[in-house]
Amino acid sequence: MTATAMTLVEHHSWLPAGKRAAVCFNVDDVHPATSRDEFDAGGDLGRGALGRLERLLERNPSVRVTLFVPPDWRLQRLVPTRRWLTRIPFLRERIHWAPLTPKGRFRVDRHPEFVSYLNALPRTECAVHGLNHAHVGPRMAVEFQEQSRSRCRAMLEEGRRIFAAAGLRHVQGFAPPAWNAPPALCQALSDADFRFITSARDLDTAVTGEARTAGSGLRGASLIQPTFIRCTPEENPTGATASSAGLVHFTTNFQATSTIDRALAIIECGGLLLIRAHIFKTGGGITMLDGLDNAYCDYLERLWRELETRYGDALWWTTLAEVADRCRATRS
Ligand SMILES: [Zn+2]
Repeated sequence: MTATAMTLVEHHSWLPAGKRAAVCFNVDDVHPATSRDEFDAGGDLGRGALGRLERLLERNPSVRVTLFVPPDWRLQRLVPTRRWLTRIPFLRERIHWAPLTPKGRFRVDRHPEFVSYLNALPRTECAVHGLNHAHVGPRMAVEFQEQSRSRCRAMLEEGRRIFAAAGLRHVQGFAPPAWNAPPALCQALSDADFRFITSARDLDTAVTGEARTAGSGLRGASLIQPTFIRCTPEENPTGATASSAGLVHFTTNFQATSTIDRALAIIECGGLLLIRAHIFKTGGGITMLDGLDNAYCDYLERLWRELETRYGDALWWTTLAEVADRCRATRS
């Protein structure tokens, strides 16, 4: 097993001239499941969850969005249903704790209307969200756990092939399902020339310029500034030349349960306010606190109006890919 060390280097000089802070918005788990399945994750197009997002974009012309799309979503339930099998030692780590959707059922290249709809959304970029969003054992949505760097690389390539076959326009960004980004995955992302990753979610640490992430996913990254992840492997099994232009990490620091004061503090500190939502509110046995229902849409509109009133042109309304490109261009 190859050990990989990760170094985190905070980046500062990324804001364009005249901007004091930035705002990004991302929505996770967008895939072709419809309300006739366990839940509408985008498959109902304008009649459902994506319609809600589209109206939100229409009414708020400054706002831009990054959609994280799993190439071949397989989780049918988000909670365990196989009770007794999961109590058997050895077996419990090797089975899926709930039945999976058949392979390919929600593969995006099999859903051309869904792809056309995403491609036509204004001010929207799509990025890769895992591959199947599933793993055997108790952490059933944590797709990346023990896989090797080359296995991670193969999964990334398969996701890319599916997006290419689908004709889905996308950027070179990645969100690991359920936040977890082990070093082997970060190394594989660098090898494959991905530009950004969102792994840490921290909704509790008090906002300061020096605050570090201590919530879900990656720890020790800046709470409010982009952070370069540098991986130094002890050996290089793929033979790839070291050091791409850099993988930039962004921290999710705001969601439906956060206060407007938290958003204002991030702006006041000159950071990147990264607002996050899930495309569905309830389904698969759980309810998401940050599901994009009407109440969260209303709250987001209130927040965005407040930011526009207070800061006007001094705010950079941007996307994760655009900030990553700025970071890579301004890296000393
Ligand atoms: Zn997800």
